[in-house]
Amino acid sequence: MSKGILIYAEVLKSGYVAPVFFSLAAKAQELSEKLNGEEVMALLICKTGDAERFKEGFQACGVDKVYVYEDEHFDHYSTELYSKIAVDLAREIEPAIFLIGATTQGRDLAPRISTQLGTGLTADCTGLDINEKNMLAATRPTFGGKLMATILCKNFPQMATVRAGVFPFLETPVYKDTQMIYKNHNLQNFETKAKLLEFIQSTEEVINSLDNAKIIVAGGKGVKTKESFVLLDRLADVLGGTVAASRGAVDMGLAPASIQVGQTGKTVSPEVYIACGISGAIQHTVGIEGAKKIIAINIDKDAPIFGVADVGIVGDLNSIVPQLTEYMELRGK
Ligand SMILES: Cc1cc2nc3c(=O)[nH]c(=O)nc-3n(C[C@H](O)[C@H](O)[C@H](O)COP(=O)(O)OP(=O)(O)OC[C@H]3O[C@@H](n4cnc5c(N)ncnc54)[C@H](O)[C@@H]3O)c2cc1C
Repeated sequence: MSKGILIYAEVLKSGYVAPVFFSLAAKAQELSEKLNGEEVMALLICKTGDAERFKEGFQACGVDKVYVYEDEHFDHYSTELYSKIAVDLAREIEPAIFLIGATTQGRDLAPRISTQLGTGLTADCTGLDINEKNMLAATRPTFGGKLMATILCKNFPQMATVRAGVFPFLETPVYKDTQMIYKNHNLQNFETKAKLLEFIQSTEEVINSLDNAKIIVAGGKGVKTKESFVLLDRLADVLGGTVAASRGAVDMGLAPASIQVGQTGKTVSPEVYIACGISGAIQHTVGIEGAKKIIAINIDKDAPIFGVADVGIVGDLNSIVPQLTEYMELRGK
């Protein structure tokens, strides 16, 4: 019988486990409680000797067991190899639930695993719960964000991907005596159709620190020009934050797609989100539900963004943003 919650622990190029794993582990504690304490497990594929380095992190977020696949070649992601490992493990341990972060890698991996296992996958979930029949109830926006659908999966494992920032991390660590289970594998000679020739890091990804930003200053179509977008850069700088954009601003060429927030962009959960010249379409606000405080600056007093904002400023961003920047600069001196 399928039991337990398995989470894929993606190792980033930086050599750390992806933050989305820890937010999924936090959510898994809640799901496990509803499933009468079923085990929370992790799948870790990493370079030889790295697993021990990650052990403390797994212990602190309440993981019962980590299935470790180490190899000197596992410093580069391979779709075929990683999905084979995940599928073999899922067939062996039969988890009831299999969660994967909706990162670039997770989005590539999850559908391949679910297809091979002949199970369903709910992608980009914004909510996970256990229903009265002990099944995973995975919620995600549908119809262009106008409706929230809760989806049940008939087969096992019940799979879901979740973006970074959707679920908060544990406020206090739940220490567990995590069992590290080193799996023997014979994958050195595993034939893959694709070969990695070179890895070129996207510079946009390097500078994009939205996932962990405490303060985000976001610009929308109302910013209108690249020159005005610089005003947001300055405010973000003074506040020690970073800039983001609505799809409207991205479509206008004011900002790169890598900093788009919303349904088809990033989900963020900063302490403060300052929305400048953003109308507040549902496809945008679905990406900022995790923000602790939302400040909106908009020329139109009826803009929907004011409906979700904690603080609303009605006025022209071209005069308000520089004033805010100046005020914060003076305070900082
Ligand atoms: C399937 C689908 C997925 C989508 N995904 C996303 C997504 O991921 N992210 C996203 O953002 N959108 C997404 N959208 C698009 C979304 O529906 C909106 O079109 C978009 O968010 C609008 O961007 P905006 O708020 O910048 O522009 P607008 O809606 O045009 O709003 C501009 C705002 O600026 C204000 N303004 C104008 N001048 C000034 C000024 N001088 N000072 C202050 N305020 C001013 C205006 O009053 C207005 O409220 C998606 C749509 C679909 C259908």
